[in-house]
Amino acid sequence: MTNGTGAEIVVDLDAIAANTAALRERVRRPLMAVVKADAYGHGLVPAARAALAGGADQLGVTVLEEGLALRAAGVTAPVLTWLNGPGADYAAALTADLEVSVNAVWALAEVVAAARATGRPARLHLFVDTGLSREGATAAEWPGLVAAAVRAQADGDVTVVGLWSHMAYADAPTHPTIGAQVRAFEEAVGIARSAGLTDARRHLANSAATVALPDTWFDMVRPGVAVYGLDPLGGDAAAHGLRPAMTVRARVALAKRVPAGSGVSYGHTYTTPAETTLALVPVGYADGVPRAGGNSAPVLAAGAQRTIAGRVCMDQFVVDVGDAAVAPGDEVVLWGPGDGGEPTAQQWADATGTIHYELVTRIGGRFARRYVGSAGAV
Ligand SMILES: *Cc1c(COP(=O)(O)O)cnc(C)c1O
Repeated sequence: MTNGTGAEIVVDLDAIAANTAALRERVRRPLMAVVKADAYGHGLVPAARAALAGGADQLGVTVLEEGLALRAAGVTAPVLTWLNGPGADYAAALTADLEVSVNAVWALAEVVAAARATGRPARLHLFVDTGLSREGATAAEWPGLVAAAVRAQADGDVTVVGLWSHMAYADAPTHPTIGAQVRAFEEAVGIARSAGLTDARRHLANSAATVALPDTWFDMVRPGVAVYGLDPLGGDAAAHGLRPAMTVRARVALAKRVPAGSGVSYGHTYTTPAETTLALVPVGYADGVPRAGGNSAPVLAAGAQRTIAGRVCMDQFVVDVGDAAVAPGDEVVLWGPGDGGEPTAQQWADATGTIHYELVTRIGGRFARRYVGSAGAV
């Protein structure tokens, strides 16, 4: 649904392709572009196609339905799905030629059952926990999982094509957990290789590790947020040759002159210091504009960056533009690449106490999404 007011999320497909190419050039080895969560809010299928156009070798999603959606759209590149609960439709995944990951013997049993039911052996990744304590088999469980996978491979039900793990602290490149995780990963790989799983690709690096930690690159890297041009280290994306692909903008719905001392928005947490012009922007927290942006987040309005005045409401917020000229229909930019004077998603993250990942994945609601650029277009 659009909101009829011109509020839109503009996604630059050429930026996604160029970011992917820059990352791949940096690592010079296979790259899995992570397109989970609707490609971090950029649109699953167009973003996936743009990443492939930029040289991504494969795609990664969490739930298998995201992989099925890629296939339904005609995307034929290898796709890994890795976060599926008991009863997941692995038969559909295998029929659609999705690679699957397991982190427990019971999950492997479900994949084996699906392989037998469909007659399609699974291309399987084994996920080991090396210190994040999230997905992944523990070090104690790992030998048992490896042994079960070796049996399933001997039976022709799976081919183990990946051994992998995920970093806890890659955005702090000198943190001591990094070396510990790399060592734990190498140990897990050693156990799997000794058991005969010698052909599987090893992959560990997310965006931060892809940018900052060559020791984690192994046989493939797995960036997500950097593909969309956001700096995983929270700094300047351009320093890594990345360009933010998302611009979020709306149009002024009402402008009015008010006297000094006017309380603005719910709770009057902002009061006009002088006679001024207020611009009403018709997007709010229902559209993914964080309520925490009230009196803190910047927007580009009437030629300058200005802080949102008072609380962000469900459907709207207010900007005090002072004596600048502003009229209904004028553009207000929430965030974008930053080179047109607009704030960046990183600035919003700093202002609202979150990370840009959360902002780009949650923006939506009544914003219309529009694509610019031609990378991956069909
Ligand atoms: C989300 C995710 C990634 C990509 O992370 P970024 O920080 O966005 O690069 C890689 N691997 C796994 C397991 C993930 O969950």
